Amino acid sequence: MTGSLDTACGAKLRIAILGCTGSIGVQALDVCRQHADRLEVVALSAHSRVRELVDAAREFGVDRIAVTDPAHAHDPALADLADGTQVLVGEHAAVELCQADDVDCVLVAIVGAAGLAASAAVLETDKRLALANKESLVVGGDLLMPRVRPGQLIPVDSEHSAIFQCYRGEKADQAHAIWLTCSGGPFYGWTRDQLSRVTPSDALAHPTWNMGAKITIDSATLMNKGLERIEAMHLFGVDMEFIRVVIQRQSKIHSMVEYEDGSVIAHLGASDMRIPIQYAFSYPDRWSTPAPRVDFRTLGSLDFGEPDADTFRCLALAEDAGRVRGTLPCVLNAANEVAVAAFLAGTCSFTDIDAVVETCMDDHDVQPVQSLEQLADIDAWARRRAAEAIAARS
Ligand code: NAD
Ligand code: MG
Repeated sequence: MTGSLDTACGAKLRIAILGCTGSIGVQALDVCRQHADRLEVVALSAHSRVRELVDAAREFGVDRIAVTDPAHAHDPALADLADGTQVLVGEHAAVELCQADDVDCVLVAIVGAAGLAASAAVLETDKRLALANKESLVVGGDLLMPRVRPGQLIPVDSEHSAIFQCYRGEKADQAHAIWLTCSGGPFYGWTRDQLSRVTPSDALAHPTWNMGAKITIDSATLMNKGLERIEAMHLFGVDMEFIRVVIQRQSKIHSMVEYEDGSVIAHLGASDMRIPIQYAFSYPDRWSTPAPRVDFRTLGSLDFGEPDADTFRCLALAEDAGRVRGTLPCVLNAANEVAVAAFLAGTCSFTDIDAVVETCMDDHDVQPVQSLEQLADIDAWARRRAAEAIAARS
């Protein structure tokens, strides 16, 4: 372990949580509550839900917060902050929080490509990056991964936390395949025709995980699994072909690594994000569980299946993007963010999501990834192109 993670014996790990009002952020706060003897929350950010941000700052005695959406810079709730609390405002404010000297570990729990700048900023320091924001790696993995110091980046995404743990103590070059598990989402087994009639409320009901709206829709289209395959490709330094998606309906096997000799090491446990969040803080140690334990005597069966990438086109599009690499995953991600927002707003259908993403990918001239500025420009282009494609379909 490097740099500031060598906290003095018995000292608390000082944590910044970016996106503290979201599904991951709130669960991270719960982990910090349960392990208050080991974890100290020192900085928090939120985009717009200022009331929840202020309540969390008061509960955890945090004296530095960031409101990343300037439209919320003057919310009345800010008046309830303890005297002396520093309030940073704007897109760059989350990056500033990451770089403060009194932070040992930053949890990036922002949703979407908006998390990339913060992830990159953490990697300029020797602080730990607890990474929930998979879009950072999908979009900027080529820039981020070469900057990671040994043991600095601990994945929070449950599958990637699982894979990370299945690799521990093994020789990575003796791995044969990664089995990336997928619940299949609420529409497992459905036809394209059935999917075309899905409403936002149908898609927001995920069978096994309770998550933010964007990732819940991504889980229903299987774009989430496509993004996770690209995320795993970067994190573990392997090709797309090395990573096989397998449906595991109960979400109890969080992923597996198969080795040369045919042995398969799987990670199992409760479907509760507090476990991988806590592991990103406790690593390389393990602390008492923040969640109910699984009783395997009562679990029943574990089912497996093959994903249907012909029906769930997002999975196939993400595979194309991950094979081609360069700036194509950036376009895939940005177009998907716009299409998902449009679906939630009722301005496009569920099956328009993959059509819009495909149009943007087809229209893009792929370049090698060179800089954050280049990615920001391409992201902005893809968002404009996706908006046009949505307007043309409605
Ligand atoms: P969410 O929508 O519930 O919360 C998102 C958080 O990001 C909020 O605190 C919000 O204030 C902040 N935010 C939104 N837009 C922002 C912007 N433009 N700039 C800065 N901050 C912004 O999302 P979530 O479900 O908690 O997911 C967060 C990330 O974690 C995503 O990348 C998701 O893919 C990943 N993840 C989530 C889960 C899960 O169970 N929710 C599991 C694995 C990975
Ligand atoms: Mg996941």
